[in-house]
Amino acid sequence: MARLTGKRALVLGGSRGIGAAIVERLTDEGAETTFTYAGSAGAAEALAGKTGASRVQADSADRAAVAEVVAGLGSLDILVVNAGIAVLGDALELDPAEVDRMIDINVRGPYHAAVEAAREMKDGGRIVVIGSVNGDRIPFAGGAAYALTKSAVQGMVRGLARDFGPRGITVNSIQPGPVNTDMNPAEGPMKDMMHSFMAIPRHAEPGEIAGMVAYLVGPEAGIVTGAQHTIDGGFGA
Ligand code: NDP
Repeated sequence: MARLTGKRALVLGGSRGIGAAIVERLTDEGAETTFTYAGSAGAAEALAGKTGASRVQADSADRAAVAEVVAGLGSLDILVVNAGIAVLGDALELDPAEVDRMIDINVRGPYHAAVEAAREMKDGGRIVVIGSVNGDRIPFAGGAAYALTKSAVQGMVRGLARDFGPRGITVNSIQPGPVNTDMNPAEGPMKDMMHSFMAIPRHAEPGEIAGMVAYLVGPEAGIVTGAQHTIDGGFGA
C-alpha cells in the first residue's frame, strides 16, 4: 500500500513548477489530491489527466475564493501552500500594486488557507508552506519585497505550530534555493549570479523539493513542526 493511501490533500498553486511536482508526488504516494491554479488552465487540465488529481481555479490573492475551496473539501489531512510569485527589482522602481499583490499571494494566502484548513483538519494533519531561502538570506539587490514575504512565512509557521500542535497537526515551511521552473529557469539570466552563492552550484529540480514535502506530510514526520526546512544547495550556508 502506498504511504499516503487514504489521505486527502490540497495543494494551492499546483499547475506548474514545484507545485506540479508536489501534485505528482502526492498522487504517486496514494493521496486523494486536489490542486488550485490561477491562470494556467491548460497545464492544470494536463496534470489532472496525468495524475488523477482534481483541479479548481482559485486565485490565492482572493481570501474568499481560497476559503471556499478549503471549506468545500471538508476535512483534509494535508495542505500544501505552494502558490507564490516573485516581484523583483529596484525598490524605488517597482509598482507598489504589484508588491501588494505579491504580499496577498505569498503571505495572506498561506495564512488564511492554513487557518481555514485547520478548522476541519483531522488530528495529526500536515500543513506545509513553500517559503524560500530568501527568507533567511537575500544576497543581491532587488529582492527586499520578495524576501519580506518569505520571512513572514517563517513567523506564521512558528506561531501556527503552537496553535495547532495540541491536535497533533504539524506546520512547517520548506525553503528552496534556486529551482528550475518558469519562475527561475536553470539557464536564465540570473543563473551564474545565483550559483556563485551555492556550495553545490546548480538549480534543484522540482521533484527534489517534492521529495521533502513527501517526508514532511508522511507518517515519519509527526514530531517535526514549527520549523523551516532549507533545501538550497548551500545558498544560505
Ligand atoms: P512557477 O511560477 O513556476 O509556478 C507557480 C505556481 O503557482 C503555478 O502553478 C501558478 O499557477 C501558481 N500560482 C501563482 N500565483 C497564483 C495565484 N494567485 N493563485 C493560485 N495559484 C497561483 O513558480 P515555482 O514553481 O518556481 O514556485 C513555487 C513556489 O516556490 C513559490 O512560492 C516560490 O516563491 C517558491 N520558490 C521558488 C524558487 C525557485 O527558484 N523557483 C526558489 C524558492 C522558492 P498558474 O500558472 O495557474 O497561475
